Amino acid sequence: MVLDPPLPRPLVGRLVVIGIGLIGSSILRAVQARALAGAAVAYDASEPVRARVAELGVADEVAVTPAEAVTGADLVILCVPVGAMAAVAQAIAPHLKPGAIVSDVGSVKGAVLKALSAHLPENVHIVPAHPVAGTEYSGPDAGFATLFQNRWSIVTPPDGADEVAVAAVSAFWQAMGANVETMSAEHHDLVLAITSHVPHLIAYNIVGTAADLEEVTQSEVIKYSAGGFRDFTRIAASDPTMWRDVFLNNREAVIEVLGRFTEDLIALQRAIRWNEGDTLFDLFTRTRAIRRSIIEIGQETAAPDFGRERK
Ligand code: NAP
Repeated sequence: MVLDPPLPRPLVGRLVVIGIGLIGSSILRAVQARALAGAAVAYDASEPVRARVAELGVADEVAVTPAEAVTGADLVILCVPVGAMAAVAQAIAPHLKPGAIVSDVGSVKGAVLKALSAHLPENVHIVPAHPVAGTEYSGPDAGFATLFQNRWSIVTPPDGADEVAVAAVSAFWQAMGANVETMSAEHHDLVLAITSHVPHLIAYNIVGTAADLEEVTQSEVIKYSAGGFRDFTRIAASDPTMWRDVFLNNREAVIEVLGRFTEDLIALQRAIRWNEGDTLFDLFTRTRAIRRSIIEIGQETAAPDFGRERK
């Protein structure tokens, strides 16, 4: 058996993470735990966040301006909401050295690629990526070093991207414990619309609907929430800024998938109205098999009630 040569340590010279929330601080923690960078530099627009990051000690340096942060950077990873990517790209553009790699973790890839390409100089490499891992929490305290372990990270290089830069970003995510897949930004946005964006919209919608049904809300919704609703409330607690930006920036794919979803929902409504038990039973059997296969590939726990502790 031929073994791959071991990766050099540190993997990156000067690594800069911009936006130190759940994802940015998880990257910094994982980089620190695995000694992946010569110097790990953090920058966030918010002063209290910068102070907290310094207190947490997850970066070697906390920069006060984006310019100071990216000067001399080898790899810059933008971990801000999708709607803020353009402004950050504009702010760092004049300060990047030729040959630097600029990546991001945005949940939408087509719009981010457009935003970065519009502002960054041609002598830097743009290699967007999306770690498909997260929680409903935000901020620097929400991060943890193992967030990306055994999760997928999707790298979406634009046509003609520099192969060495793409390999460097892929190696970075692999070194963080993630499995790497490469695809086009367009394909990513369609896949994520189905697997993540529309499910979040459904959760926001159902929790919103329940909140609007005033007679059964508050006490009863909370009291009986174990009946399925509770799992939607977890998803619907996700960061409002992040998710607003996801929907506004993946509009086409989300609308396409929502169209299909609405048709299928109407078909179910019809099956219920006309007592078509077989239609319901067949669908529920198929969906149960999908959950089983997600558990089999290690992306979810088989423990009852999502492994919640019984008190
Ligand atoms: P988060 O916890 O809210 O952190 C984002 C941080 O970026 C905040 O501290 C925010 O400061 C800061 N920020 C906003 N605008 C900025 C700017 N112009 N310059 C510098 N810093 C700025 O968000 P997150 O969950 O880590 O998400 C970050 C990115 O990861 C998003 O693009 C999201 O789509 C992607 N992502 C998220 C998940 C997830 O499950 N959460 C999973 C995969 C990918 P303020 O709070 O002061 O605005």
